[in-house]
Amino acid sequence: MKMVENLLRRFSVLDRKLAAADELVLILDFDGTLSPLVEMPSAAVMPEGTRETLQALAVLDGITLVILSGRALEDLKSRAGVGGVIYGGCHGLEIEGEGICFRHPDLSSFEAVVDEIAETLSVSTEKMPGLIIENKRYALSVHYRKVDGEREEEALAAISQVAGRYPCRARISRESRTFEILPPIDWDKGKASLWILEALAKRASRSLVLCMGDELTDEDAFAALKGMAVTVMVNPLPSVKTCADFRLDNTDEVAEVLGRILHCVSGRSRKARLEVREESSSHKEKRLRNE
Ligand SMILES: [Mg+2]
Repeated sequence: MKMVENLLRRFSVLDRKLAAADELVLILDFDGTLSPLVEMPSAAVMPEGTRETLQALAVLDGITLVILSGRALEDLKSRAGVGGVIYGGCHGLEIEGEGICFRHPDLSSFEAVVDEIAETLSVSTEKMPGLIIENKRYALSVHYRKVDGEREEEALAAISQVAGRYPCRARISRESRTFEILPPIDWDKGKASLWILEALAKRASRSLVLCMGDELTDEDAFAALKGMAVTVMVNPLPSVKTCADFRLDNTDEVAEVLGRILHCVSGRSRKARLEVREESSSHKEKRLRNE
């Protein structure tokens, strides 16, 4: 069985790559990566320390921050609350920020379908206590973690039966106990990440990409970015099945890595400023000598 190493124990690898890169692109998932997982997604709060680190990173030259989540774009933006970030909602079907504005062309027609599915579901699962239907405009999340264990399969069968009547993609996340109903579009966090990198390519030259996430949907990004990014799965099990290069135990360790990155890059830009200052003062000296 392949063991996945903890990035904090191999931080020197990242440190070296950071030193060699001109630019850093951070692609980060939200729930379970930046924000600790909570029973109800509506109660998720990102720790203040993580927000401060992200905000400090976002304002630095040569750093691009991307937060990519299954949440609706507006919800994600207000929950993260960090300026100067590219946000990707609904697994990257909607991307906005830093001069980028993208909405998948096939998305609009699905909005009415989502409303209809939500309506049908709320009627057909009326007698199933504990199911929470979250309408995310272009997708639906049906949370079943509060459903009685014995009725779980019955609930999933009922949701799947309704979803089956519509043109959509269904995805069950056993980790977060969510049944997701997505638009029938061949798009995921992997394709969205590549799209963003391509949009940024005009600006980035020798860039280091670091991608972190905790769920199956993040595996799409890890696979798409194989060989062109450092990828990190947030999971405490060294035996976790993932195609990521490294792992981190939890959101606290993610925050620690972000803090260390901030320390490395802000030290470097201070050094760069000093070099510029030294260079300009030696120019001045030369000029004075020549006069
Ligand atoms: Mg997540």
